[in-house]
Amino acid sequence: YQRVVLAARPRGPVAPENFRLETVAVPALADGQVLVRNHYLSLDPYMRGRMSAAKSYASSQALDDTMIGGTVGQVVASRNQDYQVGEFVGGMLGWSEMGVSDGELLRKLDTRIPLSAFLGAVGMPGMAAWYGINQILAPADGETVVVSAASGAVGSVVGQLARLRGCRVVGIAGGPEKCAYVVDQLGFDACVDYKAGTLEADLAAATPDGVDAIFENVGGACLDAALARTNAYARIALCGLIAGFNAKELPINNARLLLINRLSVRGFIVTEHMEFWPQGLQELGELVAGHQIKYRESVADGLAAAPEAFIGLLQGRNFGKQLVKLI
Ligand code: NDP
Repeated sequence: YQRVVLAARPRGPVAPENFRLETVAVPALADGQVLVRNHYLSLDPYMRGRMSAAKSYASSQALDDTMIGGTVGQVVASRNQDYQVGEFVGGMLGWSEMGVSDGELLRKLDTRIPLSAFLGAVGMPGMAAWYGINQILAPADGETVVVSAASGAVGSVVGQLARLRGCRVVGIAGGPEKCAYVVDQLGFDACVDYKAGTLEADLAAATPDGVDAIFENVGGACLDAALARTNAYARIALCGLIAGFNAKELPINNARLLLINRLSVRGFIVTEHMEFWPQGLQELGELVAGHQIKYRESVADGLAAAPEAFIGLLQGRNFGKQLVKLI
């Protein structure tokens, strides 16, 4: 089977030369192990951090190792009594057509929900949205919530959860097509195109009552524009800073508003809060099954397409959750 390894650490933007496609033999299973054929691989922004040697929230991964990543697939051989051949499982088997697990990081999947959703709205990105909304921002009915990267895996769920709480929800996204989707399909009250060149004025027009809660996925100009609209005691859930992935630092120009408006900022890493996952995934699964949470996917075809799709994700070429379909 084939796998993709980290061939070289990126200097600046990620390039195809940072990856290498390899063919490896299917290993014999030891006692307790499970062999999984992956159907989908998840591509996520945190992988950029793993590729670097520099300190990030995600620890760095070794050169020549399989690129890390979440997967969903089917058990094809098992020497573990908890997993039977044919069962569908989620795992962290990486950029690889197959993977061996000792069962510890596997979870069985509810087959009533589309398999790929467990990598998006009912997976880690959905949980990031759930945690930020429920455990940090807790926006009340009628409050205004702003979320950046609004059409993406996390942002799309953030906005829909906030709408379900009765909030006015304003997205920020790149380009008119993404903005139209966020309003027309996801039901946000408004969405501002940060690429149009009038972000501050457009966000001001979309938030007539100011902003009470910010779910930040991007940083830079998006965060500054949202900060400029904050009401007193507004809360900020700092989930991601994707605008700064290739830079050393990402300054906050409106930092004085943290004081003037008495804002609270909380950064979080969703995998540090596993105690909330059973409840959160249960709720998200029900909302997806009931079509109260909608999502969209960008699907690359075949493992060899993964590097280019990942580079595209870091440039906003994805539209919704970025996946690689393996079979
Ligand atoms: P998305 O599906 O939202 O895809 C990434 C999107 O980011 C792109 O489509 C693009 O959207 C936007 N983007 C990329 N570069 C820039 C840029 N320079 N300026 C502005 N926008 C940019 O990804 P996810 O939903 O998976 O992740 C969203 C954020 O959440 C990331 O920052 C990620 O690191 C973070 N995250 C954090 C977690 C945590 O535990 N803290 C867990 C999961 C995700 P557009 O075209 O609209 O610009």
